[in-house]
Amino acid sequence: MSVFHIAIDGPSGAGKSSTAKKLAKELGFTYMDTGAMYRAVGLKALRLGIDPMDEEAVSAMIGTTSVDLALEAGEQQVLLDGENVNPFIRTQEVSAAASAVSKWAAVRTMLVEAQRSICATSDVIMDGRDIGSVVLPDAQVKFFLTASPEVRAHRRTLELQARGEEADEEKILREIIARDEQDSSRAVSPLIRVPDAVLVDNSDMNEEETCQWMLNIVRERMAK
Ligand code: C5P
Repeated sequence: MSVFHIAIDGPSGAGKSSTAKKLAKELGFTYMDTGAMYRAVGLKALRLGIDPMDEEAVSAMIGTTSVDLALEAGEQQVLLDGENVNPFIRTQEVSAAASAVSKWAAVRTMLVEAQRSICATSDVIMDGRDIGSVVLPDAQVKFFLTASPEVRAHRRTLELQARGEEADEEKILREIIARDEQDSSRAVSPLIRVPDAVLVDNSDMNEEETCQWMLNIVRERMAK
């Protein structure tokens, strides 16, 4: 069976997941948010009082951890040791823990294997940091989706405010820059733009424009 894979990589807050979800809907593909899986591992470390920066402790923990993705009412849910942890993985604390645990080879090996097995038999659009480089190096379409740190911090601020949460834009910008640095400089599977990825800088584009642009590229490739 021939399957079609789309990889979307890029830094935090570039709109990867909302764009990928829309594209998946348009194309009838399965959407996989790999960041949610790293967030689940970060959450587990926090819950157990394990320092996410402690490679040995996190690697020992991962040996007895299961992370799966499931669909419920069309929405992706992440299951940590069988528990649906979607409601707990979007805090700033978990974001930082996810970024820290994602540096460790044992964590990446376990999650990459799970990700590859999920998409072996289906048309998938997957977003993350290492999708085009490591998880799906043979993906038919690869995108590197980005926007300036200032634009990403501003969008995140508006998102939090819309949810009635407090948002300090300067602090958010500092956190985004720190996470970019951590994700791009780690030794194992750093965030990079692979040469065959189409660069999409959406600093001056809204979500609809970004999706249309990407959709055109996907349709062109599918027609070949
Ligand atoms: O995409 P999201 O912001 O939810 O990802 C959370 C963290 O998980 C990122 O900061 C990154 O460190 C890590 N991650 C990763 N590889 C992926 C997806 C996410 O290292 N494929």
